[in-house]
Amino acid sequence: MAWTTITKSRNQRRSAPHLHDYESVRSHFSWEQARQDLEGLPHGQGLNIAHEAVVRHASGARAPHLAIRWLGKNGMVQDYSYGRLNELTNRFANVLRRLGVNAGDRVFVLAGRIPELYIAALGTLKNRSVFSPLFSAFGPEPIRARLTIGQAKVLVTTSALYQRKVAALRSTIASLEHVLLIGEDRQPTTIDGVQDLGLLMQEASPDFTIGPTDPEDVALLHFTSGTTGTPKGAMHVHQAVIAHHMTGKYALDFHEDDRFWCTADPGWVTGTSYGIIAPLTSGITSIVDEAEYDTERWYHTLQDQQISIWYTAPTAIRMMMKSGVDMVRKYDLHRLRFLASVGEPLNPEAVLWGREAFGHPFHDNWWQTETGGIMIANYAAMDIRAGSMGRPLPGIEAAVVRRTENGVEVVEEPNAQGELALRAGWPSMFRGYWNEPERYKKCFVGGWYLTGDLAKRDDDGYFWFVGRADDVIKTSGHLIGPFEVESVLIEHKAVAEAGVIGKPDPVAMEVVKAFVSLKDGYAPSEELRRELLGFSRARLGAVVAPKEITFLATLPKTRSGKIMRRLLKARELGLPEGDTSTLEAGS
Ligand code: AMP
Repeated sequence: MAWTTITKSRNQRRSAPHLHDYESVRSHFSWEQARQDLEGLPHGQGLNIAHEAVVRHASGARAPHLAIRWLGKNGMVQDYSYGRLNELTNRFANVLRRLGVNAGDRVFVLAGRIPELYIAALGTLKNRSVFSPLFSAFGPEPIRARLTIGQAKVLVTTSALYQRKVAALRSTIASLEHVLLIGEDRQPTTIDGVQDLGLLMQEASPDFTIGPTDPEDVALLHFTSGTTGTPKGAMHVHQAVIAHHMTGKYALDFHEDDRFWCTADPGWVTGTSYGIIAPLTSGITSIVDEAEYDTERWYHTLQDQQISIWYTAPTAIRMMMKSGVDMVRKYDLHRLRFLASVGEPLNPEAVLWGREAFGHPFHDNWWQTETGGIMIANYAAMDIRAGSMGRPLPGIEAAVVRRTENGVEVVEEPNAQGELALRAGWPSMFRGYWNEPERYKKCFVGGWYLTGDLAKRDDDGYFWFVGRADDVIKTSGHLIGPFEVESVLIEHKAVAEAGVIGKPDPVAMEVVKAFVSLKDGYAPSEELRRELLGFSRARLGAVVAPKEITFLATLPKTRSGKIMRRLLKARELGLPEGDTSTLEAGS
């Protein structure tokens, strides 16, 4: 395998990296010891994420330290010290308690990156309820599906999002007892079961004591997509915080004076594990920007907020690359010391461009919703193999495996392709898919968790991403299940069948593309194509809806009637069709 290595010299670094010697830290590592970096609830009452993220700093010398600086899209700035964050999250926990929301009940938040989202997330964890974020760009259908599957008891959202996306479907979600309105735009409400959170917060006490929390109590419910079926709710427990904290230290190299910017939205797992939890457990300052991507705004933020550690995603990096290096040079980015990327494959050119533009390469790392935290990474103290995801974190055993009749076998041969697997048992490993034990069980074989990604491992233990083993789509870093899109398309009166694939795209990695066949009496036309695009956008939201639709007389199917997305993709890309022995005649 040929690669470009970016060698690090000691004088390139300002602070000694925590993971100074990979082999030695790895060989001495234990999760019990990693647990010692955290405080735990007083009197041995367990482990709670919100205690580690907020309470322990707020009750010590770090109380006045800036925990979160929020940058509003219209220029407003709000600062939250650890002390203030503690008080506000206490109030939110008291609101839940007063409403009769108990430990284990699901509290969903549907909002953009506004301060109340962060307060609700941490307050929910204090109350030992389960926090489940919903991406604010989702349309009503993905929202309905997730609230229903997760049996939401509370939904925290803005007036605008409620009116546009929830009000009409509210009556279909039997479990939903309380809607709490947040945000500047909120309207006075007289609707049954809808309350103004601002008023409830004012009335609530600023004091709250977290109850005993078993480290295995469910804390977070993150929805993700599979090839088939409905979205899956991956459950994470309170002791996931051990991995959040440890990976913040070793993979992102947090030091106490760092100013950290994670650009991910908490609607996706990165935005929660690293956009909320990990920087707070480390007691550092986290910058939250409400606005969407904008190249100049981002450079301004890096400069003005004196960001030292920046965690972003390949799609954004590719967009910045398009604007060129000269634009970056206009800014004073001397505080920046560590750049990391996740969510999609990071091209070697992007790694190198980081060095050219910012003086630091991007460090790719790999993980997914189910793993709860970073599993494989390129580290501050180690040379980077551009294009590789890096090496497993301490405490994480990764391997390339092949499925056999009796289970799996580890592929020992270097550079051979197989499925990426992780030895089960790390603290942030998901503990189930909500109410779907069978789907969960299928992910584990012979003590390995099978990730659904294809990868290779080289001679030196660096892992290289090859692709997905299934049909899920990655678009601008967001994982989309084709089934969710197909299900909406076939609800349209003209559509007989739908097959959805990820079509390669130079910036977004993939875009969602649909193939549809029409019912008798309907003919393909530009007008119908536009209608279907609009129809799916209104139901699914812009991120999930197809960007392209092609009409076909029939879709290729197996003899058992399953649409062969693989074949649709091969045909779209002009690639060999592979094994078509199960193809239905005439497809
Ligand atoms: P999600 O569960 O939405 O976070 O998506 C996880 C999936 O994103 C992984 O299973 C991979 O397919 C992909 N992914 C995440 N990080 C990387 C990376 N560094 N390189 C390549 N693919 C990645």
